[in-house]
Amino acid sequence: MEYDDSERAEVVAARVDEFVDEIVIPAERDLLGRESISDDGLAELRSEARERDIYAPQISTEYGGMGMDFRDVLPAFEAAGRSLLGPPAIRVDAPDEGNMHTFELVASEEQKDEWLRPLVAGEIRSGFCMTEPMQGGGSDPKMIRTTAERDGDEWVINGHKWWTTNGLEADIFLVMARTDLDAHPYSGCSIILVPANTPGVEIERGIPHMADDMLGTSHAEIRFEDVRVPVENLMGEENEGFTIAQQRLGPARLTHCMRYSGMAQRALDVAKAYAMEREAFGSPIAEKQSVRFAIAEAETELHAARCMVRHAADQITAGNQARIEVSMSKLYTSNVVQEAIDTAMQFCGANGIGKDLPIADFYENVRQFRFVDGADEVHKRVIARNSFSDIDDAEVANVTRYQG
Ligand SMILES: Cc1cc2nc3c(=O)[nH]c(=O)nc-3n(C[C@H](O)[C@H](O)[C@H](O)COP(=O)(O)OP(=O)(O)OC[C@H]3O[C@@H](n4cnc5c(N)ncnc54)[C@H](O)[C@@H]3O)c2cc1C
Repeated sequence: MEYDDSERAEVVAARVDEFVDEIVIPAERDLLGRESISDDGLAELRSEARERDIYAPQISTEYGGMGMDFRDVLPAFEAAGRSLLGPPAIRVDAPDEGNMHTFELVASEEQKDEWLRPLVAGEIRSGFCMTEPMQGGGSDPKMIRTTAERDGDEWVINGHKWWTTNGLEADIFLVMARTDLDAHPYSGCSIILVPANTPGVEIERGIPHMADDMLGTSHAEIRFEDVRVPVENLMGEENEGFTIAQQRLGPARLTHCMRYSGMAQRALDVAKAYAMEREAFGSPIAEKQSVRFAIAEAETELHAARCMVRHAADQITAGNQARIEVSMSKLYTSNVVQEAIDTAMQFCGANGIGKDLPIADFYENVRQFRFVDGADEVHKRVIARNSFSDIDDAEVANVTRYQG
């Protein structure tokens, strides 16, 4: 499919595509259904990505990336998403990708030197601690209860977080905490950097979960008990945590869409190849009209999703927040990619759930996308609020006039 991607974007994406076919997919085949990738295995993939000049395309050259803008990295993110190993191999993997973006946006020079450089290099990992257990903040961030109080030159953090991706492996946490208890619930929060080895950081457990795939990524429950860090560990402005989180989450929601679009496309490609090879009732499965129609529908919806994401990415690159465009893209893409992967699984029969093919891992992995970074219902709430706000008094008067 032809899109209005720039020439540089197409060239880099083609290199990522080639890398995924030649290096990543063979590595994936060795791991599927057996084990998660080792640190050494990941380091080898990254070193090959560096040689091919496709490593960290979204990060500025000053910090070890390729300095491409948000719109231009889009097709490279899609290409990397064709394998679960693709995003970490070229260092566009969540949550580090979103965290690195936050560092670039608001961190001080000292914070960037200490944390951003090694993050980009792949020497350390990071976690973003926002979601809390019952009675705390989840879909409704106004409910965040974790606090950070000033005591002299230190922040003292107390709270309970869970579902922190990379929680077991991270060296640094970006912790969302309430710093002004009297402020409106939508303000008064700040993001504070907490090294994982700070006394009082209790990693309670990696939460057992579905999609425990070849990435072996943890999602952890963490307690912060009288955790003391220097005041300089504040990221950006005090009490601006939600504003910063929005700046992080908008692009991060779209990068999820990009990676998952690549995953869905690969699932469909695998299913098409299977259906062309496999025969039933006298002809290849790929010749049955119901199969062809289902593939046609999935391809059409995926194309629509990719166009929506490009439109939203254009807006963000132009400096707009694009809140509605992002919510619409996230809502639509998360459902479309899930359905596409389900369709692909159906046409591979038993092999759809077998781990000789990558579709079973995709199927497990994609389900989270309908609630991570905002559940469908939360995005619909945002879209509907905006939609109803468009109706003004004149419109209401017109409607009541019809009613006599
Ligand atoms: C794999 C994975 C990785 C994650 N990584 C991180 C991470 O790194 N850092 C982090 O902070 N969090 C992380 N999360 C948490 C994630 O961001 C939350 O799951 C998400 O924000 C939803 O919050 P919740 O799970 O508390 O759902 P809840 O708030 O408990 O909501 C449950 C459900 O209620 C429904 N709902 C909510 N609001 C409405 C409404 N207004 N109208 C109708 N229905 C509604 C939705 O269907 C929603 O799914 C991760 C989650 C997963 C599964």
